[in-house]
Amino acid sequence: MKIPLSNPDITAKERRYVREVLKTPSLSLGPRLPEFERRGALAAGRKYAVAVNSGTSGLHLIIKALGIGKEDVVITTPFSFISSANCLLFEGARPLFVDIDPYTLNISPDSIRALLRRGKNKNIKAILAVDVFGHPADWDALYAIAEEYNLLLVEDSCEAIGARYISPQTGRRRWKSYRPAGSFGAAGVFAFYPNKQITTGEGGLIVTDRKDMYNLCCSLRNQGRGSGANWFNHERLGYNYRISDINCALGIAQLERLDEILARRERVARSYTKRLSSIEGIRVPYCAQNITMSWFVYVVRLAQDLRRKDRDTAMKLLRDHGIACSNYFAPIHLQPFYRKMFGFKRGDFPITEHVADRTIALPFYSRLQKKEIEYIAEELARSMEKVG
Ligand SMILES: *Cc1c(COP(=O)(O)O)cnc(C)c1O
Repeated sequence: MKIPLSNPDITAKERRYVREVLKTPSLSLGPRLPEFERRGALAAGRKYAVAVNSGTSGLHLIIKALGIGKEDVVITTPFSFISSANCLLFEGARPLFVDIDPYTLNISPDSIRALLRRGKNKNIKAILAVDVFGHPADWDALYAIAEEYNLLLVEDSCEAIGARYISPQTGRRRWKSYRPAGSFGAAGVFAFYPNKQITTGEGGLIVTDRKDMYNLCCSLRNQGRGSGANWFNHERLGYNYRISDINCALGIAQLERLDEILARRERVARSYTKRLSSIEGIRVPYCAQNITMSWFVYVVRLAQDLRRKDRDTAMKLLRDHGIACSNYFAPIHLQPFYRKMFGFKRGDFPITEHVADRTIALPFYSRLQKKEIEYIAEELARSMEKVG
């Protein structure tokens, strides 16, 4: 048996929507773009959305539009995909990494507070939190910190479209009790690479309630053009981060099927958890009480007493049996160019490193079959008998 790590869920509907665009002359900046954006904004409970050619482009434009740049410092997590920190470097800002909560794997609000209380770091302008693996960050706590220290909040929800967060603190009127990922902070961003819950091939979506952010991001994605009809009127330094109508058509079909796809992924996750919970040395994913996951990946962790080499051995054994798997994530601060730029080393963020040494992302997609899950569970159990 050969089982891939991820597999996009594409049906006749997606193919039909893409074919329909190809019959028109509007392959970019056509009618599918605003339609995709309208539906995307709805999924995040936001007023505005700006579609771009990747999640990374979306993060970059948010940082730029917020005026975060040279001399600025942004608190963020080292346990993420690299672009959630790179977007700061693009603008000459500096990431200030804070370690994670060992359960949710999201940035730890307590550690942020401890750092801010020490008051050593000047120029801290924002917190960029990531909804890791589709588990929303602790937004209630992050809002309280942002308010107290007058910081901007940015949400990297690239892995979390459709996830929900229920505010445990009742009685705060500005909170609706039940909020979707992407609805937090000044702006959020979704990503649509083919391994995400839904895909546009390549693509991303900025979501915000701020009209000024919306206008600025529209201009920045399109070579800094003004809003008028004059195609050669460039009001600022911009980029070509446009997404084609072909990609948007695919995205519209995927958004129409979002609930169905997320429900399938939920079933796969439950099925995994049922079969893997009893394997010695394996810990299944943790979900906080006050959230609803949007399952991006299914990541198990090896027990505390096992080490990185055990994890690597287990992954090799799985791969030898045709089961794709991966070490989600490799800590950002230990990437070669971050070590070189900032002098980071092992030991700087112990929880992140401890977790990252022990994770295995298993094959995960909406149409993963029961048979396949059983086979993966058996092989994982067998490989765990051989390690440690
Ligand atoms: C996927 C992802 C992104 C953006 O990815 P692109 O490949 O640029 O679309 C950003 N942050 C996180 C946490 C991601 O998982």
